[in-house]
This record gives sequence, C-alpha cells and structure tokens, in this order.
Amino acid sequence: MALDIQQLACAHVRELEPYQSARRIGGHGHTFLNANESPRSELYFFNSTTLNRYPDCQPLEVVQGYADYVGLRRDEVLVTRGSDEAIGLIVRTFCEIGEGIVIAPPTYGMYAIAARTNRAQVFEAEREAGFKLSAQCLIDACDKAPFKVKAVFIDSPANPLGEIFPREELLKLLEALPETLIVMDEAYIEFSSAASSVGILREHPNLIVLRTLSKAFALAGIRCGFALAHPDIVALMTKVIDPYPIPDPVAQIARQAVARGGIELMRERVKGANERRETLRGHLKSLPIVEEIFPSEANFLLVRFKDGPAVFGALAQKGIILRSFENRKGLHNCVRISIGSAEELDEVMRTLTALAGGEA
Ligand code: PMP
Repeated sequence: MALDIQQLACAHVRELEPYQSARRIGGHGHTFLNANESPRSELYFFNSTTLNRYPDCQPLEVVQGYADYVGLRRDEVLVTRGSDEAIGLIVRTFCEIGEGIVIAPPTYGMYAIAARTNRAQVFEAEREAGFKLSAQCLIDACDKAPFKVKAVFIDSPANPLGEIFPREELLKLLEALPETLIVMDEAYIEFSSAASSVGILREHPNLIVLRTLSKAFALAGIRCGFALAHPDIVALMTKVIDPYPIPDPVAQIARQAVARGGIELMRERVKGANERRETLRGHLKSLPIVEEIFPSEANFLLVRFKDGPAVFGALAQKGIILRSFENRKGLHNCVRISIGSAEELDEVMRTLTALAGGEA
C-alpha cells in the first residue's frame, strides 16, 4: 500500500496556508518594492576563524548592544531569528492547544499563521470606522473570543495601514487586561516620531515589544530580531528557543549594526527614507488615478487607486513589483509601495504618470 503522506501529516498542517511572503510570491522584475526592505546594503567586517564552534544561544555583544540602544538591561532582551521567530515563540511559550490570540486585521499576516501552526486559535477584533483601532475594540474582542486569550498582537506602526497605536490606548489596554500579554510589534518604529513603548515596559509586566534589524537597519537578509520584555518573560521564551538560533555571522554583523556607528548610519537612512516617502506622497496626490493615500509613519505608503489591480499589473509588466492588498477585507484597490531609492521611486512615478495619461 502506498504511503499517504497527507494522512500522516498533522491535520492542522494540512489545513495551513503558509505566509505569502514577498519572496514566496516572487515575480519577475528588477525593482522590488514589495517587502519594505531598505534599497541598499552596507559593508560589514567578517571574521571566519570561529565558524567551527557552535555560537552562543544569546550572543552577549548583540544582546548588550541592543539593550544599550533601547535603554534596557540584558535580561530584558531576547535575540531571535527575525521578529518572526519571536512571534512564534510567544505563541509556543504561552498558548496551550485551543487557547489563542487576538489580532486586528488588516495587520501583519504572521500573527495568525504562527498561532495556527502551533494549534492556537485566532480571534479578529473589529476596528472602528476608517480602520481606527482603540483599546475598546481589542478589549471587546478578548471578551467575545470563544477561547482563553493569552496575547493581543498590535503592530505599531501598523502593516499595511502605516499608523501608530496611540499611547493612551495602549495604557488603557494594558490596565484593562493585566493577565493578558500585550505584544507591541514595533518593526517600523525607527521611521516614526512616536515614542517607543519600550519606555513603559518596566511599569507593565504584561507588555512585550518586538523589534527587528530588517527595516531601519537594512538587514532583512541576516534575520535578526528582538523580543523586549520583563526578565521572567524572556527567561520563559529562552526555554523554548532552539539551542543555537543566532548563527555566528549574523551575530558579527548585528553587533556592528547596533554599535554607535551603525546606529548613526541607521538614523541617516531613516531620515532619507522619510523624506522620499513624503516626496512620493506629494507626487501621488497629483495623480487622478489615486483615490486615497493612507497616513504612514513607516517605510511604505498604502495607496488606494481607482483601479488597484490595473496599477499593480501595469507596474509588474514594467518589472516593478509592488504588494497588492486587493483580497484583504476593506482594502479593495489598495497597493503598498515600499520606499525604495530615489531612482526606483522616480521609475514608479513615471510609470504611474503615463498610466494616468500624463507625460512620462
Ligand atoms: N512585524 C511586522 C509588522 C512586519 O511587517 C514584519 C516584516 N514584514 C515583521 C514583523 C517581521 O520582520 P522580521 O522577521 O524580518 O524581523
């Protein structure tokens, strides 16, 4: 009898729809503005003399460097393989099978996938009109969820909406749900003028802040992220993480990125990206094919076109790959444009202007 490998797999894995990352979707192009990456990489030093050894589980200099950068102690910092790993670790550390998390779509897709992969449940909060997210929406969702909610995931700045979850709302939420983990995913925080919630971490033992080197630090390729939390939370998650999660080359590069020079470079990079975002916003406003540009405090703009699929398709034909949100509830005709280099964004604008019937 032939082996039925599908029957052998876990039922929840058979049903799983994996995350449609920009790389998985692919696309033939030369200008990739679909993954909120930095348009440029930097030079790093690399020493290969210790590659015969297993790396530290938590490379000290990376932990210390990041702790210094955010103003925390080392025992409040966990280094992970991108913040994606931290999302999964939170579910694996805190959710029993059948318990779960609350999310507020449209939001980053990995929260739901990490939960489902680990047999946890997902309940979706309803946002207010105009996608506004309040503490009350999330508190209501926790009340209504037909399972025990262990964590609420909020991205701030949000992906793809671009907006910040206000501090007053976060404080309300933390106080209303003292026995639930509130996870503030700050993957894009360096691009925003809003204060990081790291500043209130010590007063709120149920707060976890997620950060990454993938965006403002221009290091998506090394997969390095951080969970910042009370030492007891960090200790629990350290029990669950793999024994050697951070490869030595990653640690070497991360260490340089979070040293003083690396942070100065990051600040310059962020300033440039924010300027280009506002220039792009100004240009887009003048196009008759644009319906709405969402406010953004991140390295992307979410744009509602009159005909989103036509815009997405026309740019793809020219080799410019954007991210379509056509199939997401409420985001009909919406396309997200990562803030690439000035040349890449000029190319986007030329193509859009031609599409709108103007001079290209
Ligand atoms: N959170 C948000 C809101 C994101 O948009 C992303 C990347 N797209 C991540 C987390 C994951 O980032 P990484 O795993 O590269 O740190």
